[in-house]
Amino acid sequence: MKTAQVYKDKIIVKNSDDINLNNRKGAIVKVLGCGLCGSDIVKFKHNIVHDGAVLGHEIVAVILEANTDTEFKAGDKIVTSHHIPCGECKYCKHGNVSMCEHFKKTNIFPGGFSEKVFVSEEHLKNVAYIVPKNITDEEISFYEPLGCCVRAIKRCGLTAGDSALVVGLGSIGLLMGEGLKAAGYKVYGCDLIPDRIKLAQKMGIEAFNSGSLNEFESIIKSKTGNFGTDSVFMTSGADKAIDVALKAVRPGGKILVFSSTPLSNGYPNNEIYYKELTILGSYSPSPQDLKDSYELITSGKVNVKNLTTVYPLEKIQQAFDDTISNKIFKAYIKM
Ligand SMILES: [Zn+2]
Ligand SMILES: [Zn+2]
Repeated sequence: MKTAQVYKDKIIVKNSDDINLNNRKGAIVKVLGCGLCGSDIVKFKHNIVHDGAVLGHEIVAVILEANTDTEFKAGDKIVTSHHIPCGECKYCKHGNVSMCEHFKKTNIFPGGFSEKVFVSEEHLKNVAYIVPKNITDEEISFYEPLGCCVRAIKRCGLTAGDSALVVGLGSIGLLMGEGLKAAGYKVYGCDLIPDRIKLAQKMGIEAFNSGSLNEFESIIKSKTGNFGTDSVFMTSGADKAIDVALKAVRPGGKILVFSSTPLSNGYPNNEIYYKELTILGSYSPSPQDLKDSYELITSGKVNVKNLTTVYPLEKIQQAFDDTISNKIFKAYIKM
């Protein structure tokens, strides 16, 4: 079977029939396609995976054979996520599921950018769903990324009618905006790239250019009765993003960190102290967050149409390059 493997600064598609998918209880699936996640980009760009690693986890697939007691059968089209919490450890009991050791260990094998993948019994039981006929593969491939957004929105614990600013209007920023709208909040967005701002506006997000900080601050203040927004969702890790957030958030507001930044960047102590800000992180979704995401997509409550650019597996390097250079919003690799 063909897989896309990382070798230093390249992704090479090669035949790898030596990968054994038959050793545990679960199912072997034929991957139809797999979304290219921001985390795949980070792993590739910063070279934090070993040579030969197969990235990708946002898969849409058809079950070829199931070697376990499961309600899924051969021929079923499913969507699945890649991590499952143990439910028993200190982290799980406190709701910090993405810190759970078991969560970090579990994965689909060898990775989503592969013609075939092994999906464990646990995955099938906890995070896999049938893809309804009226939803396209590209749409349902947002199941896991939207799950991440759902988690972030829940963790922020906003009050009905609250406002949120999404910093960064790439695919994950737009998805966050969609999730926030679906939850009933007033959503603003900002970016530096005009095309992104335009698309956000088309999707019903009041979006602005944050290139000039003072101008941006006065727009946000004028929109929010001079308060600032109740919350800020940081889907961009750009150098200036923290300054933007601090200009926009109201005293007593919340900043949800959803992206890594250069290591030297941080939130100034005195801004947090004197303004009683809450800064909190959100990383990877729980099975319940994923279930909510599945319902949001399949019910049409969030709009995930026309966000993807499709690439064949052979062109996966192009997909990575185009994502890194912001040429496209979201790549979907079709097997
Ligand atoms: Zn992802
Ligand atoms: Zn656990």
